Amino acid sequence: MTSWMVWSLLVVMCRAAGGESAEDQVVEFEDSNDTDPFVDDFEDIPYRGNIPSFISPLHYGIVLKANLRDWVYSGRTHVLINITEPCDQVPIHSAGLNISDVFMATYEPEGRGRRVPIMQVVEDKNQELLRIYPRRILYSGVYQLFIDFKNEFVSDLFWGFYQSSWTDEKGWKNKMVTTQFSPYWARHAWPCYDEPKYKATFKFFVDHESQYYALSNGAQESREPIRSGWVRTTFERTPEMSTYITAMIITNYRDIKGTTKSGIPVKLYGSHEKLQTSRRMLDTTIKTIDFLEEYFGVEYPMSKLDVVPVRRFGVAAMENWGLITAREDIANFDPTVHSAQWELQARVIMAHEVAHMWFGDLVTPKWWDNIILKESTVSWFMVFAADAIFDDFNFSDEYMVTYELIRGMDKDSSVNSRPAIANPESQDEIMNLFDEITYQRGGNLFRMIYHIMGPAPFKAAIHNYLSENAFNTAQMTDLTQNLQDEAPEYDLKSLIERYTLQKNFPVVHVKMLNRTHILVTQERFLFTNKEAVDDSPYNYTWHIPFTYTTDAERVDKVQILTERENIVELSKPATWIKVNNDFRMYYITNYDLVGWKKLYHQLVEDHTVFTTTDRIQLLSDLLNLVTADKLDITFPLQFLTYMKKETEFGPWKLATEHWNHLINRMSPAEKFAAKVKIYARDLMDEALKEVVKLNTSYNKPIKERLLQFVLVDTGMTVDHPVAHEFIDKLGELSRDGTAPGIRTLVRTDPLRRKRFNLNLLDINLHSYHWEGRHNKGPQKQLLFNISDEEVTGPTQEMITKSSGIFPFNDTTPPYPNPQPLDPDSGWIPEEKNTEESIDSEPATKPGPATDMISFDWDNMSDLTSPSFQDPLEREKRSSNNRRHSSRRRSQQHATSGEGTEPGIVYLQKLRRAKTDKKYWTELLHTLPSMKNPDDIRDTYWILCDTNNVTALKALLENSLQGSEDTQQEALDIISKTKPEVVWKFFKKNYDRYYQLYGKSQFTMAYLIQIVTEMLNTSDMKNDVKSFFKSNDPGTGEPGMMAGLEQIAENIRWKKNHRHKCRNFFFTYARKHAKGKN
Ligand SMILES: [Zn+2]
Repeated sequence: MTSWMVWSLLVVMCRAAGGESAEDQVVEFEDSNDTDPFVDDFEDIPYRGNIPSFISPLHYGIVLKANLRDWVYSGRTHVLINITEPCDQVPIHSAGLNISDVFMATYEPEGRGRRVPIMQVVEDKNQELLRIYPRRILYSGVYQLFIDFKNEFVSDLFWGFYQSSWTDEKGWKNKMVTTQFSPYWARHAWPCYDEPKYKATFKFFVDHESQYYALSNGAQESREPIRSGWVRTTFERTPEMSTYITAMIITNYRDIKGTTKSGIPVKLYGSHEKLQTSRRMLDTTIKTIDFLEEYFGVEYPMSKLDVVPVRRFGVAAMENWGLITAREDIANFDPTVHSAQWELQARVIMAHEVAHMWFGDLVTPKWWDNIILKESTVSWFMVFAADAIFDDFNFSDEYMVTYELIRGMDKDSSVNSRPAIANPESQDEIMNLFDEITYQRGGNLFRMIYHIMGPAPFKAAIHNYLSENAFNTAQMTDLTQNLQDEAPEYDLKSLIERYTLQKNFPVVHVKMLNRTHILVTQERFLFTNKEAVDDSPYNYTWHIPFTYTTDAERVDKVQILTERENIVELSKPATWIKVNNDFRMYYITNYDLVGWKKLYHQLVEDHTVFTTTDRIQLLSDLLNLVTADKLDITFPLQFLTYMKKETEFGPWKLATEHWNHLINRMSPAEKFAAKVKIYARDLMDEALKEVVKLNTSYNKPIKERLLQFVLVDTGMTVDHPVAHEFIDKLGELSRDGTAPGIRTLVRTDPLRRKRFNLNLLDINLHSYHWEGRHNKGPQKQLLFNISDEEVTGPTQEMITKSSGIFPFNDTTPPYPNPQPLDPDSGWIPEEKNTEESIDSEPATKPGPATDMISFDWDNMSDLTSPSFQDPLEREKRSSNNRRHSSRRRSQQHATSGEGTEPGIVYLQKLRRAKTDKKYWTELLHTLPSMKNPDDIRDTYWILCDTNNVTALKALLENSLQGSEDTQQEALDIISKTKPEVVWKFFKKNYDRYYQLYGKSQFTMAYLIQIVTEMLNTSDMKNDVKSFFKSNDPGTGEPGMMAGLEQIAENIRWKKNHRHKCRNFFFTYARKHAKGKN
């Protein structure tokens, strides 16, 4: 989703000609006796847009009367429609609206038109249509349709025209209403032709209470009192646009403003307090417009831009044309509160929305099957623009690979993936197009095309596409043609088709035949081949854009390999080769053993001969190959040891996520975790010692902040003494200006030290009540009931001492009948290992000569699958020789954050408490005042790391009940809570979850996925299957598919890798103890 820009000459002309023409007038309504009672039922017809092609809207006048006091509104849609064939019914989208009157007339530019008698109006709920039947056949011509309606502002969803609020500097809550229409929710706000191809001009009039003002796509034209306490705001007429990007907001926010180079006024809204620190985001917005306006060579299409924070929001941000809405923590981004990782996201998201002002808003996909035209393009332009605006991070390569590409490939490695261009057949299917394939995979497709074509031809093609299709709709074939026209030397059309019309992507096997010739073969890449069906029109072959780096040169000029098997001649003789420079092309690479070995040695010798992005790519490719059984898991573990010299953020982020995930996967095997920690501490030792010398201010360059954070964070997780020392020292210093992410580390330190000792957190938490974490002040309640046996001795003393600080109540139980903990339901049983315990020393201790995990380079056959040894002999691979690895790296928790209180003061308080129970409670208590999303996420991570099921259930229950902004919290809690507990809770509360998230784009799918994907036994898999047989997953179906696939992989992984991992880490630790590593 995203944003807006540019008044073209066309619009100006259009406006000059139209002026205040008759269709802008609000026509008085005549009483009509023609409407019969509405009929509810209607036959089911196949879904794919349902307005007949001979009807199209030309212009809307929409009048609203909004009453925020009672949360109700009424209105009239007056729409001018063009009918090109005789017809006996006129349909228009309308859903959930209380229609009070319908009236039709012919259109006479100079007069009011003649009335068209109506026989019947049918409300077709199934198709979300109002079907208007005139008494006589309508002949071709232009007609006026008037529909009066009433509605309530939606209170329980973040879609349609809905209630929100904001808190001002005095702590008062202020009402506001806002819209979110993408992809088909405008029809829930007012009747309209709610499909992207029906572009029309809009003129909005809104009557509202005078303490508010209204914002819409166009600039305000006038604001006039209409009666005591009420005003009418009239907006200028919009250019031709689709309904899903129309918007209306009524609020009383404050604002700050600026102007683009071309004179477009840009305003950013928020509370007085929040606006003090929002200047950075306003500047980012303006600079992005300036850059893109110049780059596209097309003026920003609207006459103004407003950026409005919305507290209750279902997506990160939305590109309403001229009126971007965004999460509060993005629009009001505050560097003193939000972490460096969040800053990266906020910059990119804002650039994404601004780029939409052209891609999506000015030129719109004709139908949702071509959503790639708006979301994928913009996912490239966002990082491209960020690179032009900021010089402190490499967005188009390092960010794109670390945050987008790896995630996209993870999703796209499944047999359940889909082609980028897919034809949705229901509303649910439209919703599900807003996924990783569209954003992450699609964005990288355009990144690839950019690097194939080169900057100038790509820029020219983009300019042509925008100019030729401005204020209109387009299809991918149009853009492909523009791109092809500018790059005649490449067959881009065939290349694009293969990457958009078939799912998945290739793995390219590379083997040096001699110093100048290499064999390059391709095959479809999948994590599992089990159910793969060859159903592609291109037989799952791709055109491979080939670039490479050798010890002799770096070649960025692309040659395209079209065969399954290709011989490439190098221009200079080389010793080693690394393919796909900076991971700019959408495929992964596998080398033969000798090739990998040379790359490893080069990394150990001097890793800086590869770019940072190249190094991220090597790690990512390795981990993907392991997951696909093409490599043994011990291979990347050994490969990672080059990182003793690594000093860049991206590789560290990937590596640490990987081994954090390994630890979690093996949990609760504590001895094993201890060995992983030895390995991790060893690898990060040097880098960590360097970063703790840096200061911790949030004004430092973002790269330094990111690196410091990821290393200290991981250092604490793996108990590196330097990390702990660093945090201790910070705590003592109480330093102001400490970067928000680091503050979180300080605050959570005491708990994290216990992290792998799960039973230490045995708090007896019966229940608590916790209301809206954003509601500061006395109405917030947090009640705990600690059992009598526990509240004795030193604990009692402590609680008494701290009673002024924490709302402990050790005398009166907060609930009349606290349930005693059921030992069976309250605690997760320790994992029963029928097989050899993962925590015990390996049964057969490998001798030094045959030590398979020492990664003996001269004796490597044991580590690789046959396909790795020789890609051409893939079919020889035996199925029982498969090996698996961990994945889901991209979904690891992103720690970092902010403190609402200066973190250090808080730390002092925290240190006063001495038991884990106290830490837990206090941390929970702090949540309501936290502002940084990363911080909140991190805190949940700690809170959820308890074996107390009652506490977990209480967290889950409250996440379903909170009054505001609970969606992200609920998802955070779920993703971090014990999978068995979550799954049981989810099943029990499925209806409530569906009610909350069922209508949100990707949320339901994501929810089901995170609820199921960590389950790892056959029984659990069957349980998931049977549950969804009797409970419709609805929009969540892709999540269910992904979850089931992941469970199967987890089962395989457990079977194949647990012991290999154990062997590797136990041996590493043993050798480390002897000083060998
Ligand atoms: Zn978008």
